Amino acid sequence: MIITKQKEFKEVLRYLDNQNKIFIIGCGECSTTCKTGGEADIKRIKAILEEHGKSITGYCIPKAPCVAAQVKLELAKNRKAIESSDAILVLACGLGIQSVKENLRIDKPIHVGCDTLFMGAVDSAGIFLEKCSACGDCVLELTGLICPITRCPKSLLNGPCGGQDKGKCEVDKTRDCTWILIYNELKRQNRLHLLKERRPPKDHSKSTRPHQLSLQ
Ligand code: SF4
Ligand code: SF4
Repeated sequence: MIITKQKEFKEVLRYLDNQNKIFIIGCGECSTTCKTGGEADIKRIKAILEEHGKSITGYCIPKAPCVAAQVKLELAKNRKAIESSDAILVLACGLGIQSVKENLRIDKPIHVGCDTLFMGAVDSAGIFLEKCSACGDCVLELTGLICPITRCPKSLLNGPCGGQDKGKCEVDKTRDCTWILIYNELKRQNRLHLLKERRPPKDHSKSTRPHQLSLQ
């Protein structure tokens, strides 16, 4: 899931300066879960914008605005309202915002309503946790399924740095050192021999940006 947070409202208002009729686009997947782009969030933003003298021409919530077919469908259904607007405000992640830009066939300013933070897992308490950085060359098989790229602040591949202290990370002492967690997990799995394998420097050619993958 892509984790987003609402931009500071005064920042959004600044973007919308001199544009009074606004159409809002949300997201039915990740941003709904993050409470940034679902129906309730849109209604909350709509009410605040109206208090500041803006008029909301309408809104839509594509199931996943990052999927071209889904955003195109909603844009087509709302064409008239969009045409009558001065601008569009997108409450979705950076993928959704860019997808709106690429699929909107009408020349309107598009504004950003959310900050995109990270790719996160959602635990049973509803807390979003960053556990993978999409590095393109996964090492979880060797690390007890604990990601050192994301969870070690130095992204170390061959064991802890000299700074770990009693199992805590030197960068953030409130957190366990990821490599101590990896050690304990491999020990539990009786696979400590994996730590003796030296991992070569990461092959960054596998994570050259921007990524592209075709299934055709
Ligand atoms: S090593 Fe970590 S960052 Fe890379 S793909 Fe695996 S989980 Fe993701
Ligand atoms: S203490 Fe552990 S988690 Fe922290 S930077 Fe060093 S190796 Fe990484």
